[in-house]
Amino acid sequence: QGAIAFKDVHFSYDPARPILKGISFEVPAGKTVAVVGPSGAGKSTLSRLLYRFYDIQSGTITVDGQDIRTVTQKSLRSAIGMVPQDTVLFNDTVAYNIRYGRTSASDGEVFAAAEVAQIAHFIETLPEGFETKVGERGLKLSGGEKQRVAIARTILKAPPILILDEATSALDTTTEREIQTALDVVSKNRTTLVIAHRLSTVIGADEIIVLKSGEIAERGTHAALLEQN
Ligand code: ADP
Ligand code: ADP
Repeated sequence: QGAIAFKDVHFSYDPARPILKGISFEVPAGKTVAVVGPSGAGKSTLSRLLYRFYDIQSGTITVDGQDIRTVTQKSLRSAIGMVPQDTVLFNDTVAYNIRYGRTSASDGEVFAAAEVAQIAHFIETLPEGFETKVGERGLKLSGGEKQRVAIARTILKAPPILILDEATSALDTTTEREIQTALDVVSKNRTTLVIAHRLSTVIGADEIIVLKSGEIAERGTHAALLEQN
């Protein structure tokens, strides 16, 4: 579920300056595709287009074969879990932030038992210290802790599609490794688009796309790309 296809996608913020120049690739359902490349190549723009922050000028983006312009933004976004580079949390408790998106006037604070079990299990696997922060104001958390909150929120939402936009690039090496392990668990069997700045962080991806100046410069598995370079 959640197969993604970009077909000849063109996009510019400013008509005089094309950012994406005919991008085509697919993320088969349940697979992981990573987009790497230098800063300014258009990697984050790709993920924002999938989330429909902006509309493309030509080409198509489909999810499960359906053009994303024909589905409501609400239903599109409910199918996508986004873990960004800098997680912005609500100025509230960690618990509130984790639940965000699952609470409404009708369901209040009530979760399905299965969800509670899932999130409890996940928090248990986090490095110690995280539990004691629950209840503190979100903004006091470290970068790594904020990322865990974002990941926990994504797990609770259980979306078929995941976008990891440089989700570990703002972290120190040790924290990056811990978060990477958590992300590997979350992305297993989910359609995942990973945006990364280094090839070394996306070894397990089913396909890696190297984006340069808004064009696909190379593509292949990690091993194949290493051989070419
Ligand atoms: P990457 O993620 O590969 O670093 P981005 O997709 O963030 O690249 O940016 C690609 C290009 O688009 C850059 O030149 C950037 O300056 C420009 N850009 C990004 N966001 C905007 C925006 N909101 N308005 C105008 N230009 C933008
Ligand atoms: P929707 O349009 O589907 O209601 P939003 O655009 O409000 O979704 O938010 C999309 C996602 O971005 C949410 O699932 C949430 O994870 C995150 N988000 C949005 N606003 C904030 C915020 N102020 N603080 C933390 N996360 C936010």
